[in-house]
Amino acid sequence: MNILIITDLEGVAGVCDFESTYETGKYYEKAKELLTEEVNACCEGCIEKGVEEILVIDGHGSGGILPEKINKNAKLFHGRPVPTLWFFDQKWDGVILLAHHSMNGTEKGNLNHTYSSKSIVNMWLNREKIGEIGIEIYLAGYFGIPCILITGDEAATKEAEKYVPNIEKAIVKWGITRTSAISLSPEKAREIIKEKTKIAIERINEIRPVKINGKCEIIVEYISTSDAFVRSKREGFELIEPTKVKVEGIDFLDVFKKFFS
Ligand SMILES: [Zn+2]
Repeated sequence: MNILIITDLEGVAGVCDFESTYETGKYYEKAKELLTEEVNACCEGCIEKGVEEILVIDGHGSGGILPEKINKNAKLFHGRPVPTLWFFDQKWDGVILLAHHSMNGTEKGNLNHTYSSKSIVNMWLNREKIGEIGIEIYLAGYFGIPCILITGDEAATKEAEKYVPNIEKAIVKWGITRTSAISLSPEKAREIIKEKTKIAIERINEIRPVKINGKCEIIVEYISTSDAFVRSKREGFELIEPTKVKVEGIDFLDVFKKFFS
């Protein structure tokens, strides 16, 4: 069995504000250590359940994993740029969304944001608000791969459940505000992640890929009219309001590629 683990840094137990997730933040190095240990707990769960190949993608913009500490049985993709399709277009039996966060504006969503906490207000796919979790679930679904486990704060897990009602969840903290949370101890969080990983692998055949059919449209609302203006000059993009751009595609993959490449 082959498993793809996509990580982020905002959904880690013990991380609650942007001082931990921005490259210049004073707790950034500590946060990376905490994430790497959560990844390793997930890898241990995979290995105990017989997973042969694990690829970990360091999904946090500026990097979130300490390569020297990663589980010896996993491979790590790190650095930028990331291939446009984020390795989803390979043969995986399941995807794990590790240490993820909810979309911008989510009540009680710790570190909630949508791709950029500094520039994006909202994103819609076919007129429904969407964040990184939804996009990743649909991308996996496009290639016929189920997202079997999400870890992060409660709000992130609820967001994933909207798309995959029977996704396995490891809740490691509860957001109070965007920059405060009640967190499990890192040790407890790792225990739960390992346990839930094992259950997710056992249930892999019950959890279906989520596909979106037909034409797709992404609308993005920026904070700044400048960002919207600049984006609207790219091929396929249209400025629909001073802060909003729209891009269309023949299907999900097409619009995804246009938006993210
Ligand atoms: Zn991130």
